[in-house]
Amino acid sequence: MSTESSTSKETKNPAVDGSELIEFKDVTKRFGSNVVLDNLCFDVSSGKHVTLIGPSGSGKTTILRLLMTLVKPEEGTIKVAGEYLTHETKNGKLVPASERHSREVRKNIGMVFQQFNLFPNMKVLRNITEAPVHVLGLSKDEAEQRARELLELVGLTEHIDKYPSQLSGGQQQRVAIARALAMRPQVLLLDEVTSALDPELVAGVLDVLRDIAHTTDITMLCVTHEMNFARDISDDVLMFDEGRVIESGSPEKIFSEPEHERTREFLSAVL
Ligand code: ADP
Repeated sequence: MSTESSTSKETKNPAVDGSELIEFKDVTKRFGSNVVLDNLCFDVSSGKHVTLIGPSGSGKTTILRLLMTLVKPEEGTIKVAGEYLTHETKNGKLVPASERHSREVRKNIGMVFQQFNLFPNMKVLRNITEAPVHVLGLSKDEAEQRARELLELVGLTEHIDKYPSQLSGGQQQRVAIARALAMRPQVLLLDEVTSALDPELVAGVLDVLRDIAHTTDITMLCVTHEMNFARDISDDVLMFDEGRVIESGSPEKIFSEPEHERTREFLSAVL
């Protein structure tokens, strides 16, 4: 993570080389008169795991929704893998990108939501193969092979032929993680992925994510209230308050020696 941005078109498919995979530059997002993100700048380097923490309503989920193009910024620009996501600045003005361009850039991003959002009428295998076949154009065989590997990774091989309603919430969320990874995104967005789960199911999902963080090159941007998990997987932690990053740094620094009074208050309430 850094506050400087420098990226060229050559970084379209960056390896883990420290190039910036995500760049927010002066991003402002308002809902009516509510300024949710206020002139926000931050970068995430390729291969890094960055966690967003902060009180409810401070704008964390909005950042993930901007990256998914579910909402658009009023000001500023977002780049993913060196490409503008929804707008670029030309002669000081924001110029919208085409839907087609945004869709292409968004293929670099996978997201796991709080509420799993699996297709209820499809079995586990098809939940995972549907988008790779229809969006990426993989053959059914290729997509199924990849799905089987991913189901092994998330520990659900024996549930391949079940419908989502036959699985626990934790198992459904692990299918959702496999489904996101099946698109081979460069960055995985995680939006409070355990907050809808019964407490006894949380650890299994976090273990799978820890494993992915520690054994793959994928870049992660994660909103979570699970502070031990954040400490384990993060390269950088950003503390948000009222749409701004008020403090950032390594997990050791943020969790052990926070500088900002607001960070101390927040951590003492959640730890
Ligand atoms: P966090 O993830 O930190 O809890 P959010 O990004 O979800 O915060 O929300 C930040 C603020 O934006 C909140 O005040 C929320 O009510 C508001 N907000 C989020 N989405 C919308 C929306 N679609 N319409 C209106 N207000 C919204």
